[in-house]
Amino acid sequence: MSHHLSLDPASRPRPRFLDGAPKQLFIGGEWRPAGSGQTLTTIDPMTEQVITSIASADAADVDLAVAAARRAFESDEWSAITPYQRGLYLSQIADVIEANADELATLDSLDMGGPFALTRWMVGNAIETYRHYAGWPTKIYGQTAPSAPGQFNYVVRQPLGVTVAITPWNGPFLQMSWKVAPALATGNTVVAKPAQQTSLSALRFAELLAQTDLPRGVFNIITGEGGVAGEALIQHPDVNKVSFTGSTAVGKHLLAASAVNVKRLTLELGGKSPTIVFADADLPAAAKAAAGDFLNGSGQSCVAGTRIFVEEPVREEFSALLAEEMATYVTGDPFHPDTVIGPLASRAHYDRVVSYFDVARDAGATITTGGVEDPDGGLFVAPTLVENVTNDARIAQEEVFGPVAVLIPFNGVDEVVRMSNDSIYGLASYVWTRDLSQAHTVAARLEAGSVFINSTAQMSSGILPFGGFKQSGIGREHGTDVIDAFTETKTVVVNL
Ligand code: NAD
Repeated sequence: MSHHLSLDPASRPRPRFLDGAPKQLFIGGEWRPAGSGQTLTTIDPMTEQVITSIASADAADVDLAVAAARRAFESDEWSAITPYQRGLYLSQIADVIEANADELATLDSLDMGGPFALTRWMVGNAIETYRHYAGWPTKIYGQTAPSAPGQFNYVVRQPLGVTVAITPWNGPFLQMSWKVAPALATGNTVVAKPAQQTSLSALRFAELLAQTDLPRGVFNIITGEGGVAGEALIQHPDVNKVSFTGSTAVGKHLLAASAVNVKRLTLELGGKSPTIVFADADLPAAAKAAAGDFLNGSGQSCVAGTRIFVEEPVREEFSALLAEEMATYVTGDPFHPDTVIGPLASRAHYDRVVSYFDVARDAGATITTGGVEDPDGGLFVAPTLVENVTNDARIAQEEVFGPVAVLIPFNGVDEVVRMSNDSIYGLASYVWTRDLSQAHTVAARLEAGSVFINSTAQMSSGILPFGGFKQSGIGREHGTDVIDAFTETKTVVVNL
C-alpha cells in the first residue's frame, strides 16, 4: 500500500498541448526544431514516466533566436510604439494567462511535481506580475539635470536591447514571468531559456501569445541543456543582458562568462535562510510559519527558512509545536486535493537531497523527524528536522533544496545575529518576536535581501524588490530596481 495520497494513474491530466511531440523552439514567432534534430525527454516526477520531448538547442539555434530578437528590437513595430501601447501588450498577455491559468499550472505540476494548489498560486502571481508591469511603461520618467546657464541637460532611460531569461525548475512559470514582464515593459526583447526539466509551461505560453498582438520576435524560446543552449546564450556577443535564477555555482560561471561583451547581469541564486524565534514570540504562529517556510514546495524554494534558531528558554515548547505542524505536511500526488508536498522534481535531485541524511549523521547530528528514504521508491522525502548540530556543520551551511531544516538553540540577540549572518548566502530571513523594537533592530543587522517579521515568505509580484546579499546574487528583481536593471541611463547635454 502506498504511503502517499495517490490517484488512479489513468486519471492523470494530459492537456492537449502535450500531443504532438517533440515540442519545438519558438524563434521569430515561428516554431522550428533544433537545427541538429536533437531532443530531450521531460519526466513527470510523480510517475517517473516520460511526459513528452522537447527540442535540444545548440549554438546555431541560439544565433537564430538572438538575431530574431535583435530584428524585433530594431523594428518600428516594437521600438516606435507609444508607452501606452507597450502596456497594452502586457495587459493582453496577463489576460491570456488568466484564461489558461489552470492548464499552465497543470503543466508545471506535471513537470516538477509541485501540488496543483501551489503551481496555480504561482500562475496567479505571474498574472499579477504582468498586470503590475503593464502599468510601468507610462511611468518611467527621466530627469532634468541642474544645468549651467546656456545649457539644458537631461537624463533618460533607454532599453538595453536583447535580454536573456534563464530560469530554474522549481517555479517554472513564475520565474520566467518575473523576468519577461519587466524586460518587455522597459522595451527590450527576450530570449527565454527555461530549465530543461520544466520547459512545458513556457512553450504553451509562447503558443498563447498568438492570441495577443505582441509583435513577432519580441519573445523567443530556446529549450535545451544549460551547458549547451544556456552556455551559447551567455557567451553570445549580441546579448545585452542575462537575468538568471538558479544555483550559485552556475551563477558564478555566468559572472565570468558575461565578461565577453560586458553583459549586464542579474543573478538570483541560492539561500540558507534563518528563521529566528525569540522567547517572547507567538510560538504557535511561529511554528506554523516556520514549518511552511521550509516545507512548501518540498523545500525546493530559494527562500526556504532552513536554519531555525530558537531561543533556549522556549526550545522544548517550540520543538513540540513545530513537530505537530510538520506532521500535517502530507505527501502525495500533486493533483490530489489534500496533498501538501509532492515528489521532488527529479531522481537526480532526490538522490542529492537524501545524501544529506548521511551528511547530517556524519556530523554527529540527530535526525529527530523524517530522514528516511521513501519506502515506496518514489521521489518523496518526508519533512526532516535535524537537531544537535552546530551552525558550522555542512548540513547547516549547504543548500539542500529539499524539506530539511536544522534546529539550533541560541542565547541572546548577538549570538543569533552572528549565527544568522554566518553563511555564504543572504537571501531571506524570518524574525518572530512580539517586541517590535527588537524586530527592527535585528532586521537592520541581518545580511539578507528580505526580512519577514512575524510573517511567512511573501513572494513579490512586482511591488517589493527581491534578491540577495552575498552569494545569493547580484541585483534585484521587482521594485524600482528592476526598471534600472533593464535600462541604460543616458545623459544628454545641450548647449542652447
Ligand atoms: P541550475 O543553476 O542548475 O540551472 C538553472 C538554469 O541555468 C537552468 O535553466 C539551466 O539549464 C541553466 N544553466 C545551467 N548551466 C548553464 C550554463 N553553463 N550556462 C547557462 N545556463 C546554464 O539551477 P537549478 O538546479 O535548475 O535550480 C536550483 C537552484 O536555483 C537552487 O540553488 C536555488 O536556490 C536557485 N533558485 C534561486 C532563486 C532566487 O530567486 N534566488 C529562485 C529559485 C531557485
